[in-house]
Amino acid sequence: MPTYANRMSEIKPSPTIALAQKAKELKANGKHIISLAVGEPDAATPEYIKLAAIKAIENNLTKYTPVNGVIELREAITRRYYNQKRLEYSTEQVTVGCGGKQVIFNALFASLNPGDEVLIPTPYWVSYPDMVKLAGGTPRFITCEDNGDGLKPNYQQLEEMINHKTKWLILNYPNNPTGTILSKQDLRKIADILLKHEHVQILSDDIYEHITFDNQITTNILEVEPRLYPRTFIANGVSKAYAMTGWRLGYGLGNKDLIKKINTLQSQTTYHTSSISQYAAIAALTGTDEFIKQHTALLQKKRDLIVNALHNNTKLCCTPPNGSFYAFFCCEKYLGKIKNDVDFATLLLEREGVAVVPGSAFGMPLYFRLSFALNEDTLKDACERIQRFCKNLIGH
Ligand code: PMP
Ligand code: GLU
Repeated sequence: MPTYANRMSEIKPSPTIALAQKAKELKANGKHIISLAVGEPDAATPEYIKLAAIKAIENNLTKYTPVNGVIELREAITRRYYNQKRLEYSTEQVTVGCGGKQVIFNALFASLNPGDEVLIPTPYWVSYPDMVKLAGGTPRFITCEDNGDGLKPNYQQLEEMINHKTKWLILNYPNNPTGTILSKQDLRKIADILLKHEHVQILSDDIYEHITFDNQITTNILEVEPRLYPRTFIANGVSKAYAMTGWRLGYGLGNKDLIKKINTLQSQTTYHTSSISQYAAIAALTGTDEFIKQHTALLQKKRDLIVNALHNNTKLCCTPPNGSFYAFFCCEKYLGKIKNDVDFATLLLEREGVAVVPGSAFGMPLYFRLSFALNEDTLKDACERIQRFCKNLIGH
């Protein structure tokens, strides 16, 4: 009988991927399923990006590259950070990996020792706690509260939870699953706390930074407090902003020593992401950002459609997201008719063929996440099904 590493008992398959997979299987079996489960834009990767990849293949740029990515890509990344945020990085302060996911994992794996703690505001992206555990650390969760502008960390609790074992604080705004953005004032409060605790590093997962609504912009904590620069690691990537989820390209910027450790780790694991994806990413990051503008405008319309439809015709409620392409709905008012959020999602899939992700996957039961990065007709159909489902739950 094969035996397995003890660390495998600490982690579970990514719930968002597992649900998306289940929806695909049901579809393949002939069921008319609408999957609002997975977090990926339905838009095609823009033509100019695809052409750059084709050109890379034609030019035989199909061999191993440096571990940390080709220099032209790292230059494109540093230039972008300078032009857009006035944040200065050298190309040695950049690492490129197989998606933001690998970059975040690398940063945690390269830095955590047993007993180290990582502070994670809840609700959180499904992978953070499991990544922390795989890397030998301990996730600790900060409560978020909604005062009408989205679920935001309880700053007093954040301060109270910091101790000598605290290694990282993870910030992910626009947030997955809520779409909440932190304002400059919010970031100022966090920065003031962190300035008092020099040993705490900040992992800023900015993967949704370009997808924001109503002309809001995302601020990185370094724009508010440059003194945090030596201990901030920024994770980002092209998956969401350029509809490039399958290309598997993410990047990280930070302290040169941490980046070196990440590169050492990556040199012994994946080596680097696909050379072709790297050339595609150069085109993405050096192009005009017209695609982002148009795509975000469409997403804003879809947000309005889904939030209005469910607010007006059900007892579900959510604070409308300011960014990302998720809405995080509370289903508490149906308790009694449903046992919990998992029951809500299971019954919704069974009865109406709509796949959503239960809030408990994000550390917040009695909610569910839906992704609205789908075409409008499908979203309208999904709304009708959810409305019917909710109506049938209460029997009128
Ligand atoms: N961070 C968050 C918050 C995400 O939702 C995702 C999407 N899976 C990622 C990071 C990583 O995305 P990717 O690996 O496709 O770059
Ligand atoms: N980030 C996406 C999501 O939250 C993709 C799936 C994943 O990597 O977990 O659905």
